[in-house]
Amino acid sequence: MKEIVVISGKGGTGKTSIVAAFAALAGKKVLADCDVDAADLHLVLNPRIEHREDFSGGKKARILEDECIACDRCLEECRFDAIHYPVLGNGKTADTPYINPIFCEGCGVCVRVCPAEAISFEPAINGERYISSTNHGPMVHARLGMAEGNSGKLVTQIRQEARDIAERDNLDYIIIDGSPGIGCPVIASITGSDLVLVVTEPTLSGQHDLLRVAQLTAHFRIPAIVCVNKWDLNPDITEQIEEEAKERGVKPAGRIRYDNAITKAQIMKTSVVEYTGGAVSEDIKTVWQNVLYALG
Ligand code: SF4
Ligand code: SF4
Repeated sequence: MKEIVVISGKGGTGKTSIVAAFAALAGKKVLADCDVDAADLHLVLNPRIEHREDFSGGKKARILEDECIACDRCLEECRFDAIHYPVLGNGKTADTPYINPIFCEGCGVCVRVCPAEAISFEPAINGERYISSTNHGPMVHARLGMAEGNSGKLVTQIRQEARDIAERDNLDYIIIDGSPGIGCPVIASITGSDLVLVVTEPTLSGQHDLLRVAQLTAHFRIPAIVCVNKWDLNPDITEQIEEEAKERGVKPAGRIRYDNAITKAQIMKTSVVEYTGGAVSEDIKTVWQNVLYALG
């Protein structure tokens, strides 16, 4: 079983369209959408949810008004400034403080310092995790609540679920739509995988993003290859990107030309290789062949 992660330096590079095309091209596989902060693989693959589970990224503190003696110890100790006295409609402040769940980082300090045991500390439900079926096999994905953190933990859970399915069903590939950027969620997306495919665009920011991602994959010693999407919009930068990538041990995986068939396929909720047999589909098929080659 091989785990392939498709990532990009930032969102909107066409990464998800490429993952959807791989879903149509690959043999026995499970799909995983680890781009949990902007999950949109489901928009193309139309998953039918078969199993759902709550996701808890951690605990949140909540003050029990009836127990609170308003000693302010929690306000003094909260380093995240999450506790304050709310101002009421009449301009006065409330008798007991309130913990803003958006700012609460779940460190538990207030719970420990409260002399009146007036703070509850329960797992917060931050989203939902799903196992679904698609026309191209099983898919693991999630929905994270607004402004919820801890997406790295959710990514780890999604990958583990996908691995369990791949082992159970004796599948050959786990194809992951990874988080963009270089933060905690992308590290959770790529660590321990067999291959990272970096998708970038031929712009100066795409060039810069690629270098940052290449540093990351090198640091974690994960083999990486790069594909330039919409390469024909700037052939010179495409060449520079491929050269710089090679210098950092990241081999080219092929170029994908600009074609609005990709957008049309998305609108039709299908992958581009199913939507058109045109040249852009051939580009993506070549990239997939190079992925297989790089996997060995
Ligand atoms: S758990 Fe930590 S972050 Fe949350 S309110 Fe208490 S002290 Fe502040
Ligand atoms: S430390 Fe406990 S008793 Fe004191 S203000 Fe905070 S919640 Fe109320």
